[in-house]
Amino acid sequence: MIEFYKVTSQELEFWLKAEGEPLFRKKQIFDWVYQRSVTDWDLMTNLSTELRQKLKSNFRLSTMELVRESESDDGETTKFLWRLREGTYVESVLIRSDKRRTVCVSSQVGCPARCAFCASGQKGFVRNLTSFEIVEQIIQINQYLAEQGERVTHVVYMGMGEPLKNYNAVVASIRQISHEEMLNLSQRRITVSTVGIIEGIRRLTKENMQVNLVFSLHAPNQQVRKKIIPYARKYPLDEIIDGIEEYARHTKRNATYEYILIEGINDELKHADELCELLKGKQCAVNLIPYNPVPGVRLKRPKTKAIKHFMYILRKNRLTVTCRYTKGDDIAAACGQLALQEEIECDQKAS
Ligand code: SF4
Repeated sequence: MIEFYKVTSQELEFWLKAEGEPLFRKKQIFDWVYQRSVTDWDLMTNLSTELRQKLKSNFRLSTMELVRESESDDGETTKFLWRLREGTYVESVLIRSDKRRTVCVSSQVGCPARCAFCASGQKGFVRNLTSFEIVEQIIQINQYLAEQGERVTHVVYMGMGEPLKNYNAVVASIRQISHEEMLNLSQRRITVSTVGIIEGIRRLTKENMQVNLVFSLHAPNQQVRKKIIPYARKYPLDEIIDGIEEYARHTKRNATYEYILIEGINDELKHADELCELLKGKQCAVNLIPYNPVPGVRLKRPKTKAIKHFMYILRKNRLTVTCRYTKGDDIAAACGQLALQEEIECDQKAS
């Protein structure tokens, strides 16, 4: 059985020809699957019964089961917890902001990066998601949004996992999401976030895509980075920044640096000064994110005064800065939190 969201336009044409079916069927099938988000072959009523039967016995349309859907008190954030076929969990988050409907997708089950501040990091790495499973998160959320006459408008690879450690599946999924016959989202509306996997950044630069790249910097120097990001021991900061700059030049897209502010770790004024020095003269934006506490992690969010002061120094040095509070704190919307909760609950039930 082949996972359908992996099938390219050419491959479907080839299959239809081999089955003696006319090629106009391709458009009908893609329309049901990608535009109408239908995940049951039997519901595709303009296809012949025979073709539906053939599709059913050759292609799988859904592999994830929705376990829990939680909405934040302000209604702006909805978190979806999915159970995969082997019983592990991943999550996606839908963020509503004006007309934007952004989905934050997971790219792995758990994460090999093990960042000190992250729930996914605590889980360790279980497996890579397939491109099919990444695309299915968007299809299922489109199905959910269709009830309100809406669709996903933006996709960010910022959920569970380090996307560039699952390079092939992530790039394949971006191609499916942006393909005009499939989900048809502009690549400029797709953002990949990385903790700094140099070889992945270099490969992505050569793909000739237009996706936005966000670097999870989180520290103004290698020494502080190593304390909270284990991969910093492998990837030198100056080489990562060179790679990010090269990507920005090549794609003509500004780089974004994310910086989670953690009390007593990276939030002091000397850190702000050092960050200004590090990013001086670069075409970039800095996104400050006050830390969102994760159960079992003894790190704290800085006081509001410290956050404002940090931001003030960056602005004074003419950096473009935004400060983003994690949306959906009340539904554990920091990456990996809901899946971690589910596993703890399942472990407790089992013991
Ligand atoms: S912050 Fe991102 S890269 Fe780091 S452990 Fe969490 S999911 Fe992985």
